[in-house]
Amino acid sequence: MEAVDFALIGEHIEVSEAALRLMSKPEKEIRFSLNLLLDGPAFLEADAYVVYHNMARGPAKGGLRIWPGVTLEHTRALAELMTWKTALVGIPFGGGKSSISLDASGLSQPKKTAIIKEYVHVIRGELLSGTYIPAPDLGTSPADMATIYGETHVLECVTGKPPRVGGLPGRKEATGYGVAHTVELCCEHLLKCAPDRISVAVQGFGNVGEWTCRFLHEMGAKVVAVSDITGGVYREGGLDPDDLRRHLSEGGRMAEYEGEAVTNEELLRLGVDVLVPAAVENVIDERTARSISARLVVEAANGPTTPEGETILRERGVDLMPDILANSGGVIASYMEWRQARSGAMGRAEETRNTIAERLDAAFHGVIATAAERQVTYRMAAQIAAVGELIATMRDRGWIPPQ
Ligand code: NAD
Repeated sequence: MEAVDFALIGEHIEVSEAALRLMSKPEKEIRFSLNLLLDGPAFLEADAYVVYHNMARGPAKGGLRIWPGVTLEHTRALAELMTWKTALVGIPFGGGKSSISLDASGLSQPKKTAIIKEYVHVIRGELLSGTYIPAPDLGTSPADMATIYGETHVLECVTGKPPRVGGLPGRKEATGYGVAHTVELCCEHLLKCAPDRISVAVQGFGNVGEWTCRFLHEMGAKVVAVSDITGGVYREGGLDPDDLRRHLSEGGRMAEYEGEAVTNEELLRLGVDVLVPAAVENVIDERTARSISARLVVEAANGPTTPEGETILRERGVDLMPDILANSGGVIASYMEWRQARSGAMGRAEETRNTIAERLDAAFHGVIATAAERQVTYRMAAQIAAVGELIATMRDRGWIPPQ
């Protein structure tokens, strides 16, 4: 995952010693062990973490990830990413993340619910004080967020809940909507063509990947390849995401869907206009970046590109729109859900999408203008804006000396 290089940022904006010290390490970390006696002799023991990177701008916001092998270091990097994302799109939240190192894929929902209840039991104080607000991430779903609500009975404790449980209409599709909207903006301003002229490959068909495919399909883009952890499928004429979902819901595997079976690596190499990694970290690395033939990468996942991978993409002339911009639709909608929970108002999906589009348009235009003016990558331009915003907030709060 590409960490922010404050020395490089310092070539563009003033980064004082005090600001540097506060931004370079997390504000707070909680490390705990989740212990649970399941049925019979089955005993579960999993490492779990909560990290607050920086809360100058508001409560720590970031998903709950349940994923095998996730570490404290990993959780730290993801919490920091949330700080930059919220700052870039002007949301009054800080950066946080929590994770449970566990493979929940084979667990029944009642077992998973028991685990989430135990997680709430341990970090109840963080949730009830409003300090940390989780949302779905890899391995967690709206139903899991409903469990968190059920254990606290405070609606604003958690976002990404189902609409019937105080969730926001439009939240579940928000990240994918934002990714598709970013692709649309890139078509207009970078690729200089209409979205219905492009071909796209999407890695990952979970919450983010699936909705990204749906919105891209709706705007006429040809989604020619999709994958999940089991592999992928390619169809030159384009795939229908709804029909693919039906196939998967009926128990079919991705590679069995009508088309040509491809591996996740082959998907990355396809000669498409836009490649959307929407699954896990570090899939575009020094090795895979060499064979990417897309014109543009739009990062839907958090941290799908390693720094070495990004350097190679740059040398090969492949543009990249960074995660903190492209997947920020989720956190924008989360803010709306939090606000709805506090006010009692009821939102509409259309409103959610309009707000995401508005925020993304502003951030996108700022990023491409800075990139052109300062001759930097889009990621660096986004980081300059986010770091500048955070420094200004820390000054406003009296955390660091005035200029
Ligand atoms: P999810 O669990 O709903 O879906 C993940 C998808 O990736 C699944 O299709 C899974 O099969 C696939 N996958 C897992 N490992 C893979 C691998 N090694 N190779 C290829 N595919 C693999 O998760 P999600 O919520 O869609 O999140 C996906 C990414 O988007 C994560 O990086 C997450 O942090 C990021 N993200 C999610 C949100 C959100 O609102 N859910 C918001 C911002 C960013």
